[in-house]
Amino acid sequence: MDKPIRKIIHIDMDAFYASVEQRDNPLYRGKPIAVGGSPEGRGGVVATASYEARKFGVRSAMPSKRARELCPDLIFVRPRFDVYKEVSAQIRAIFHRYTDLIEPLSLDEAYLDVTVDKLGIGSAIEIAHAIRKAIREELQLTASAGVSVNKFVAKIASDLQKPDGFAFIGPSSIEAFMEKLAVEKFHGVGRVTAQKMKDRGIFTGADLKKLTEEELVRDFGKTGAFYYRIVRGLDDRPVQPHRETKSVGAEDTFQEDLSSLEEMAPELDRLSVIVRDRLQRHQLRGKTVTLKVKFSDFRLITRSFSLPVPTDDLELIQSTVRQLLRGVLEEPVKIRLLGVSLSNFGEPPPTVQLGLFFTED
Ligand SMILES: [Mg+2]
Repeated sequence: MDKPIRKIIHIDMDAFYASVEQRDNPLYRGKPIAVGGSPEGRGGVVATASYEARKFGVRSAMPSKRARELCPDLIFVRPRFDVYKEVSAQIRAIFHRYTDLIEPLSLDEAYLDVTVDKLGIGSAIEIAHAIRKAIREELQLTASAGVSVNKFVAKIASDLQKPDGFAFIGPSSIEAFMEKLAVEKFHGVGRVTAQKMKDRGIFTGADLKKLTEEELVRDFGKTGAFYYRIVRGLDDRPVQPHRETKSVGAEDTFQEDLSSLEEMAPELDRLSVIVRDRLQRHQLRGKTVTLKVKFSDFRLITRSFSLPVPTDDLELIQSTVRQLLRGVLEEPVKIRLLGVSLSNFGEPPPTVQLGLFFTED
């Protein structure tokens, strides 16, 4: 009762916001630019850096102040989310020529299931090339594509030849590919987990494969079971169109466990800025603010608070999260991960609120 082999494409636009800005403004072309908050304002964060800026080590989610230190000539550009949304819809329209089984992950990234395609082309590789060509010719932007039989491997493949790249990892080469892959390249393995693995002599997929499922769960919590399957190339998650955004969040694992409010407050403020930016990008406001805490022993708790009206206001998010954290800190703790998210999205508040948004940042 074998299921038919699926054909999955992962498309990822190259430095999307920055590329759109460079396309639309010749003054930015060939220059290091960062789309995001200004380094002067409080809590500005880089949303996307151009490839010229990445050479200096500028990365997304980095505080804008830090980005300017790394690259003094960096040009900061305010995001134009309405434009990115429009371009994203144009990209989506190109996908729809081939399949309606599209799962967007964000404005610039999507999975496509082309096991059956609308034009009867039959080759995922050919479709991926046609999509990249259409994006280049019609939108003057570049995309990278990965093709495989599941989402996990397709996503890794799209990153292999970035920017403007393409990679295909077929069923017969998946296991060998995963064995050679460095653990930090595993999507979902953050830098802290990667370091923890290396400390134990786990450098590649092959090393990871030597561990039993029980050992992986013991050492890495629930995700351990996911690693066990993924290193064997097993991932049967379907491509889900119309998947609603149910929550918007950001989290980080720390190099050293945190134990005081003084250590955690700046981390929470930074995560809140990222969440606020993501909310605005998706034009969402959430009523329920959730704090996620993972302790050093991998125990995971969440604490939530529901506001009277949906919000994307940074200060309100920050103060709510801090309040939630105070409750957790009533006993001594060692914390390895903090996360902030908003959910329970509602209609935007009445226009009375507009003043707030104009003065923001
Ligand atoms: Mg991208």
